[in-house]
Amino acid sequence: MKLTVLGATGSVGASTLDVVRRHPDRYQVVALTGNTRIDVLEQQCREHRPQYAVVGDAGSALELRRRFASQQIATEVLYGREALATVASLPEVDAVMAAIVGVAGLAPTLSAARAGKRILLANKEALVMAGPIFMDEVARGGGDLLPIDSEHNAVFQALPRCCAGSKPPGVRRILLTASGGPFLTRAACDLEAVTVEQAVAHPNWSMGKKISVDSATMMNKGLEVIEAHWLFGLPADAIDVVIHPQSVIHSMVEYVDGSILAQLGNPDMRIPIAHALAWPERIDSGVPALDLFKVAQLDFQAPDFHRFPCLALAYQALRAGGDRAAVLNAANEVAVDAFLQGKIRFLHISQIVESTLTKLEARSVSTLDEVFEVDASAHAVASAYVGSLLS
Ligand code: NAD
Ligand code: MG
Repeated sequence: MKLTVLGATGSVGASTLDVVRRHPDRYQVVALTGNTRIDVLEQQCREHRPQYAVVGDAGSALELRRRFASQQIATEVLYGREALATVASLPEVDAVMAAIVGVAGLAPTLSAARAGKRILLANKEALVMAGPIFMDEVARGGGDLLPIDSEHNAVFQALPRCCAGSKPPGVRRILLTASGGPFLTRAACDLEAVTVEQAVAHPNWSMGKKISVDSATMMNKGLEVIEAHWLFGLPADAIDVVIHPQSVIHSMVEYVDGSILAQLGNPDMRIPIAHALAWPERIDSGVPALDLFKVAQLDFQAPDFHRFPCLALAYQALRAGGDRAAVLNAANEVAVDAFLQGKIRFLHISQIVESTLTKLEARSVSTLDEVFEVDASAHAVASAYVGSLLS
């Protein structure tokens, strides 16, 4: 199988290459993309020898070409957004790992969908912003869509078969598990002063910074509820969140006869990645087997929507439809970025998202251009709020 890895230099990208490395006879890397971390991309290209490497700008491309020339590496270096879409749709590519974080991942992932590639979807923001458009393109392109997000991969595994976008028969509801993040047991009044270091220190998963902050606010689970809606065709009322601090059950499907099917494993992204790469077969992911005696106990509790308002805002956005999820996503991207830069406090994140949703009047969206318009407006409104907090 020939692969393009979008976002190869990130956390999911690196885990993907770790699985690929274990199966040199099965997988061949055709293209790798990174944005600014060219040292990492250089090393990955040295090992996997792809035909193409894509970076964010001309300067990085020049530098990487210079390094490749001195090491006799034949990889062609491209840069910019168009190049991302190109390597996502090359005729020789069979599967595309969509692991760019945020809105930047939407266009190249859509390009892979249109070209009918097998899409290994990590970039949840694509579905949150443009769910119906994305699912239409996948259906038209005719490729397989395999979820990488561990919860959705678990649901996919617990469903009778892939029913992309339409309600699977016999399913009553989906139970998305959530670790609760680093602040699950912290008193609401103590959340005011949390630092970036505390927010990105996830108790069970090692991930990129943006998704780690999203896990701390529980916006990540909110985005995942919306993602599950589009992937599996269930309404908001049939998608529940269950706090499960051990992160061993990755999600569950409840059927009308009262059965609940769960997928369990160690919290390591190489499991869903290996599953999606090999589906419908199975391959070694490099992850050790789960030791149930060490786990010993599985705990569950209901989510606290008051302490984690981002989760409530995401449900509201899903129920309201139209542009609301795109606004939620854009405002959250601005807020998380500002928090990571030390410009705002942790509790400002949900305030910025809520205020942006209130300030921008709801509208319908049916084209990609409209999604990008909404994204730009929400970025502007949320950025202005950040500015007002600074002054
Ligand atoms: P990360 O920050 O570690 O990596 C992000 C990747 O995107 C990098 O390769 C970076 O170069 C690239 N990128 C960033 N901005 C870009 C831009 N403007 N143009 C082109 N490339 C750009 O992120 P991650 O944790 O690997 O997450 C990637 C995606 O997978 C996110 O959408 C996240 O929600 C999703 N996801 C991640 C995990 C996880 O365990 N890390 C789990 C589930 C879902
Ligand atoms: Mg997840």
